[in-house]
Order: sequence, then C-alpha cells, then structure tokens
Amino acid sequence: MPESIFYQPIKYVKGVGEARAKILSKLGIYNVSDILSWFPRDYEDRSTFRKISEASDGEDILIKASLVSDITESRPRRNLTITKVMVSDGSAFLNLTWFNQKYIANSIKTGSEYYFYGKIKRTGMLLEMHNPVVEKVDSEQKITGRILPVYPLTKGLTQNNLRKITENALNMVRGKFQEILPASLRREYKLSEVNFSYEQIHFPSSFSNLNEARKRLVFEELLLLQLAMIHTKGENTAQKGIKYSPVDMSPLLDKLPFKLTDAQKKVFREIEADMESEKRMNRLIQGDVGSGKTIIAFLALYKAVKNGYQGVFMVPTEILAEQHYKSASKLFDDLGITVRLLTGSMKKREKDEVKKLTKDGKIDIVLGTHAVLEEDAEFYNLGLVITDEQHRFGVRQRAKLSIKGENPDLLVMTATPIPRTLSLVLYGDLDVSVIDALPPDRKPIKTYAVNDAMRERIYNFIRKNVAEGRQAYIVCPLVEESEQIEAESAEELAERIRENELKGLRVGLIHGKLRPSEKEEVMRQFVDGSLDVLVSTTVIEVGVNVPNANIMVIENAERFGLAQLHQLRGRVGRGSHQSYCILFNQSKSEISKQRMEIMVKSNDGFEISEKDLELRGPGDVFGVRQHGLPEFKIANLYRDMEILKEVQSAVRKIIDNNLLNEDCDYRPIKERLIEIYNKRVKE
Ligand code: ADP
Ligand code: MG
Repeated sequence: MPESIFYQPIKYVKGVGEARAKILSKLGIYNVSDILSWFPRDYEDRSTFRKISEASDGEDILIKASLVSDITESRPRRNLTITKVMVSDGSAFLNLTWFNQKYIANSIKTGSEYYFYGKIKRTGMLLEMHNPVVEKVDSEQKITGRILPVYPLTKGLTQNNLRKITENALNMVRGKFQEILPASLRREYKLSEVNFSYEQIHFPSSFSNLNEARKRLVFEELLLLQLAMIHTKGENTAQKGIKYSPVDMSPLLDKLPFKLTDAQKKVFREIEADMESEKRMNRLIQGDVGSGKTIIAFLALYKAVKNGYQGVFMVPTEILAEQHYKSASKLFDDLGITVRLLTGSMKKREKDEVKKLTKDGKIDIVLGTHAVLEEDAEFYNLGLVITDEQHRFGVRQRAKLSIKGENPDLLVMTATPIPRTLSLVLYGDLDVSVIDALPPDRKPIKTYAVNDAMRERIYNFIRKNVAEGRQAYIVCPLVEESEQIEAESAEELAERIRENELKGLRVGLIHGKLRPSEKEEVMRQFVDGSLDVLVSTTVIEVGVNVPNANIMVIENAERFGLAQLHQLRGRVGRGSHQSYCILFNQSKSEISKQRMEIMVKSNDGFEISEKDLELRGPGDVFGVRQHGLPEFKIANLYRDMEILKEVQSAVRKIIDNNLLNEDCDYRPIKERLIEIYNKRVKE
C-alpha cells in the first residue's frame, strides 16, 4: 500500500507545488490520502436556484437573474473599489455589491442571465447580497449548479484552492480506493461503496448521496477505532502483571473517620480482584467530584506496599500533590509506611534526596506531579502506578510511568464526567469502575445563576455564612491566553473586596503566578481556617478538598465549560453543611442562559456533560487530544451516536464470531488494523 498512488507526496498533485505543500503540511496533509481525508466541515448548496422573493435574511442562496440597472463603480477610499448593480428574476429586486473586484464590471452585462450565489441581507423591503459568486447561465456550470464543499482552512489557502486540489486528487485515484468492508456488512448496515463515498463526501451530487457517503465513512472510522482498541486491550489484559496476595485492610480502614460507601467498597473489590490476578491491572476509576476517589487510591497503595512493592501517585497540580501528601502522611505514618512528596518546585537537593531514597527502596509511596516522570526518578520495585484526574494526562504519560517498573498495575482516576457512550470510545483500552454514589451525609449543592444586580446580596450572604464559621471561594474569570492577565484580575478582585464589599473578612488570594511556597502557604491558611474567603483562578479546579467551605462564587461563569463549572462547584458540598454555588453570568446570549440553567437544575456530572456535549460538541468539552487518541477525521461523537450504536453491534458480531481471523472477507479490515496499529505504536 505505501507504494500506492495514495501515498504520493501532496506536492505532485496538480495545483499544489512546493509552496502550497508547505502550507498544507500545517494541516497535517502530506500526501494524496491525507487530502482526501480532509473532509468538508460544511457545504454550500448552489445546486438549485430559488426565487429572490423567497429568500430570508442571512440565508445563502442561488438565484437566476438579469441586470436591471447600470453598473456603477465608486472609489470612496484609496484601495477600495465598490461595484454595484441591481438585478431581478421577476419575483423581486436585489442589490448586488462587490468590494475590490473590479473585473466584475467587465464580466457581466445587460441582456444576459446569470446565476448569483451569496448571503441575502434583508433590511425592511431592501434585499442585498455582498460579493456574490457569478456564473453565466448558458456557460458550463463550474461553481454553481452543484453542492460545493467548505473546508477548514489555514492562512494562505482559500476555499477555491482546496476545492481544486481535492478535485485534482480525486481525479488521480478515481476508482482505486480499496473496499475493505465486506459486502455482507455493507448490506446489513446499508453502507455505500468506498469510491462512491469519497467522491460524494467532497462533491456530492445530492444531499441524500452526501448523507449515505458520510454514514459510510463515519461507520468505517468508528469501526476501525473500536476494533483497534479491542486489539490493544486484548494485548494488555493478556499481559502478565504482578500477582498480589490478599492483605488485611483493617489497619488502614480503622484509621478513617468514616465508613466506606457501598460504591467505594464495590470499586475497591474490583481493584483487589485485578491486583490478585495474574493479569496486569489497567483500570479507570470514574467518580463524580466528591465521591471519594482519593481513599480508594490510598487503599490500593497500602495493598501494594504490604506486598513489598512501591507505589507512585501522580497528580496534575502542586496544590493537589501537597494536599494528597498531607492526607496520606496522616494515614500512613503510624502504619510504618514512608510517603514522600516529589514536585517540580522542590529544591534540587530535596528532589535528589527523594529520588535517591526511592531508588534504594527506602520510600514506599511517592506522591507528586510531573516531576515523577523525570528520567532520573527511578524505583527499586515499582508495583503500582496511579494517576489522579486522568483527563489532565495523556496516554503517553501513563505509559512513561509504567515503564519505571516491571509491568506495574495501573490505576487511573478521573472526575471528569464522561458520558458512558463516550467513555467506551475514549477509554476502550481500560476496564472501567464507577463510584456511582456520594458519601451519605452530603446535601445537594444549591446553585443559582445571577447577574450583577444580585452582587450585594451575594456578598451579604457570604458574610452571614462566614459568621457561622463557614468559608467561601471566589473564582475569577478565565483568561485562556494568559495566566498573567488572569493573575492580575484575581489580584484586583481580591483587593477590591478586601477594601469594600467584604471589608473585615480575611481574604486570601491564590493564582498560577505565585511561587509554589506561596501557594502552599495560602492553601494551608485556607485549610486551617485562618482565611474566610479564597479568591482564586482556576488553579483550584481539580481535587482541592476543604470540607468546611460551603460557598463557591464563579465570576463570568459563561466563559467556562460546563464540565469545568461542575469541577469548580465540586470544591464545595464536601462536608455536611448545606453548600451553595453562585454563577455570575455576564452574557445575555440565549445559549449562555441555557447552559447556566443546566447547572442550576443538575448536580449530576454525567447529565451535565451529556447536555454540554449537545450544546458544544465533544472536541470542545474534552479536547479529545488529551485522551491520547487520534482526532476524528469525520465522526462526531455527539451527532453520530446512532451510527456508533450500529458500529458497536457490528463489532460485537465480529469479535464474538472471530471473523477477523476466520472469515476471509474480513481480511482487508484486519490488514488495515495492523497498519493503523503499527503506526500508533511508532508515534
Ligand atoms: P474526589 O472523588 O473528588 O477526589 P475526595 O477523595 O477528595 O473526592 O473526597 C471528598 C471528601 O469526602 C473528602 O473530605 C473525604 O475525606 C470524604 N470522604 C471520602 N469517602 C467518604 C465516605 N465514605 N464517607 C464520608 N466522607 C468521605
Ligand atoms: Mg480527587
């Protein structure tokens, strides 16, 4: 296959050349196959013309009309030429305007009919179109009379460039796509043929053909992904791991100020079974914020240490590392188990000491941030690797940790609520345990979406709760691009409320620009109650646990993803006090209102992420890339849920009947899988 025309470098496609090849490489397009898998994000329906009078404001439409006025040209500024003309199709008049397209004046004239394609602007009775595409009616139709693809672009590349290049590439490979889906499978799931599908996805001759083509390509993409994952998982589970002996857990359990919930017990039993089996554990623990995942990790670590192995617990932030370290020491110190912290901000000397002791086997549990991944962080006999807040790490980091031991067991934990259907796709290579209940004393958090008019009442409400001994968080607006600006706005807010709204209360401030020791100090003060209010950026997003805090105020909540708001909200409601979450919504848009409404109505992370997915699409919600998966070329996990279900049934049949190995109709799929798999392993 690699020899085939599909792998010809893109520069050899007509209309490309060296310079464009360079631009295309920015989109990850290097060869013919890549450009053909660069799928349109949308389509322009220029296939049939409609009456001008029927067009509504904002609609893209093709009309067939002739000029009814002279063409006028004006030059209001240097560098700006405006060409205007009025046209009609008998149903209504339409004013056309072109900017800086001087050639138009010479290419159209009275007495002929033209197709015009563009966006209609309707102001009262006046109809307008800016920069319409023009084609003469009796000429060979190239840019009208058909459905045209709209591609994602990059700088230096126009829609028309990409359309041309794609068309040329299609011409090179016409009829040469190899059909890998067996005819029986295509019949059963009504999947169109592969050559037809690639042709039609780029230049559909009708919308129904387009739908068929798309379905087939989505089906194929999801099918290969699922089969590849089962393949990976098969290898993982077959992999031998450590066979741990049973351990009496009561010394640790007796030290806890609470009893495990049934949900926690169930999940830990699953972990014990994994650890005691010959196979290597490869398990994801999914549990909503506050469901008590940390203690599950500690239990597993205890079991590993009691079996004579070391464990490592990696978390995404220093604040979280410190916090887990404190709770771990409290439990383990008296049990004769040594826990040490390892983070990037520690002094080199300290780090070196921890590394040395770890290597010599004098430390049982290392708890830290990315620092534990460093090459010189070596273990004596690492038996268990745990990552908390898995969504912050990639598959590769997980893998990097696990090679520090000999097939250590793996446990990953996430609070990011992932819809069940999605987790199947995203975590297909892991076994999943779900902590599906919160500890019993929790009261549902009351959430309110408010605007500035409520500000004073909110601050009074904070005062009242602080007077009763509680604490509050105030989270500042998210500034995606700049941690610096984010930090400054947090500083400003803290200063303002110290001087004004919350004068007299002890207000602390924490943000990403503080030194680690400063962060730690502020967190310590908040934990031990010497601060009433903590103004913060999203550095407290994950994992932070101060059960006495019961109010979470989020400024500019509309800027956050719902999954993220849910995470932030999860910082309260961790104790027995009634907790509150106040969302300041500065946006008046309908969609923001809807999103806030979802937060107000639901405390269920799964439900929230499912709704968010509906509103925004999965890429936005999770950043699929973070899961270490290839990004989808065509499938959209929300839109294509129905296709995914069909794929799952097909996969089941293929696996149950061992078709990949036993049915020669499936050999092409198997070969493709091996190709994909080899590529993934190499990357
Ligand atoms: P998360 O799942 O969000 O990581 P944590 O592990 O931080 O949750 O636990 C949240 C809080 O709940 C902590 O204060 C923890 O001590 C407490 N907790 C955990 N398990 C239980 C339980 N079974 N009963 C009561 N409280 C619990
Ligand atoms: Mg946690």
